[in-house]
Parts: sequence; structure tokens; C-alpha cells
Amino acid sequence: MTHPTSRYHRPARAAAGRGWPVFVLGRTKRPVANCPQCHDAGPGHDREACGCLTCHGFYAATTDPHRIAAMLSAVPAGLLAIRTGAAAGLVVVDIDPQHGGQLDRSVMVPTYTVATGSGGWHLYYAHPGHPVLSRPMPDRAGVDIKADGGYVVAPPSVHPVTRRPYRTVHDGPVVEMPPRLAAIVDRPTAPAPHRPAHRPTTPTTPHAGGGGISSPAALLATNLRRITTAPVGRRRTTLYGVARGVARIVATGALDTTTAVAELTDAGRAAEQTDRDIRAAITGGFRDEGVPLPADTIGGAA
Ligand SMILES: [Zn+2]
Ligand SMILES: [Zn+2]
Repeated sequence: MTHPTSRYHRPARAAAGRGWPVFVLGRTKRPVANCPQCHDAGPGHDREACGCLTCHGFYAATTDPHRIAAMLSAVPAGLLAIRTGAAAGLVVVDIDPQHGGQLDRSVMVPTYTVATGSGGWHLYYAHPGHPVLSRPMPDRAGVDIKADGGYVVAPPSVHPVTRRPYRTVHDGPVVEMPPRLAAIVDRPTAPAPHRPAHRPTTPTTPHAGGGGISSPAALLATNLRRITTAPVGRRRTTLYGVARGVARIVATGALDTTTAVAELTDAGRAAEQTDRDIRAAITGGFRDEGVPLPADTIGGAA
């Protein structure tokens, strides 16, 4: 009998050949656990540059055939996954009919498509080049956007619950998002229901040449929410990841550094992180994104 994952080699190499970095998830679709060193590494640990084969989930994704082969050997019962976002040049629209998701051909034009193991679809579109958050698609129940900071399970992985495989059902080119879809993908997230409906207009206005971010305030809010909604044990690393995401927004010129640091600090405190850990996460996140962080914006600490 052949090794269960040996059948992943060809599709993994094919995906890598299209420029899509691939990695391996555990058999339950959860990321593989980090090695002890990476587990204990502080928030300044550069997950993107980390040399470990399978640590840090999608950060381990690669197009290197040798690393791919080694990963498939290291996690023999795993699932094949593709990192989305700018790293892959992909924005994937993830439609889950079990949660009300519907294929709307008026905005979701035909493109490379995967039928998921749970009865849904992944529509692969070209990444527009400016930051695209992974989040629920605005105003669309059961539809998620998998883009920067995200990943999708890839064919021919078998869904751990349904035991059905992910299958490529339209093996055509990855097309650009039509303008209507791009507009929805970039639309600011609606305020959470528990917030007052009529807050004063946000002072952070869209910046000319802001890399296409239509509302940096909304993007920021979406990022910050990840900190307080993360499991308690994951908040420190989530804060670091969010700091990187916010640094990328700052890099587009759509958000100023002082506001970014203040908002991250507030969110970190709301999630009961120490000021020391918050400063370390922000400093590390900005440094790892190559975004300058003047010392006086973070209380002189580094
Ligand atoms: Zn490691
Ligand atoms: Zn590491």
C-alpha cells in the first residue's frame, strides 16, 4: 500500500508551479504544532523567516519542491493547504452553503474553482496587490474571504468529517476579481451590533494613494477584534500577528503610526496583556514588516 500522502506530491508540486506556496495541516485541518523552540519564542520571533519545516501554520508554506517533499513525509496523515494572500497572489472566495453561502454569478465570475469536502466552493481570484483581509465577506452569510493571513485546504485533501475530497472542478486560469467583487472585498466591515449605531464619523479618513484601502479605520477594527477574540493562551502571539497586519496598513500610508500604536496598545490592554508584552509585540511586528516605528511613538521602549 502506498503512503497516504504520496498522492499529494504531484498536486502539491502543481500548485507550487503556479506560484502558490503550499504547506501541510494536521489531519483535523488544524495547523501542525510548533516545535518547542518556536512554541517558546517571543513575539519578536520572525515566523516568515523561521527555517522550521512545519512551524507557524501557513508561514511554513513554500514553493520549494524539496521542502514540500520533506513536509509531506513529516506529516504523513496531514492535509494539503495553500497559503492565500499576496504571498500566493490569491484572494479565495470561500462559499459554505451549510452556513447559507451562495454562489452569486453576478459578482463571482467563473475562475479556477475547487469543490470543498463539505459541499462548498473555493473561487480563486488574482490578488489585487493591496492588503486584503481574511474575514467574512461583508453582507454575505456563509461566504468568507481568504486572502492575506489566510489559507485554504487544497485538493486532493479529504475532509476530516465528511470524508469527501476537495476537487478541482474548474481548472481554468485564475482571473481578476470583477470590479463589483473587488468593491465588496474591500468594503469596510460593518460595526459590531453591540456598538452604538451613530458614532461620530471616524477621524481617520481614506488617504489619497492609500493602496486602495477604502477605510483604514474599519480594517484596523477588524484586526484589533482578533486580539480580544483569540483564546487567552493565544493572545500574545495574536497581538504580534495583528501588529504585523496593522504595520502593513501603516505601510500603505492609510494610517499613521501614532494612531496604530495607540489602538494596538488599547486592544492589548483590553485583552489583559502586560504593557511590556504589548510593546514587544508592536515593536516586533513593525520591525518584521520593515515599517519604521519612531521610538517616541511607543513610550521610548523597544
Ligand atoms: Zn520551529
Ligand atoms: Zn519558528
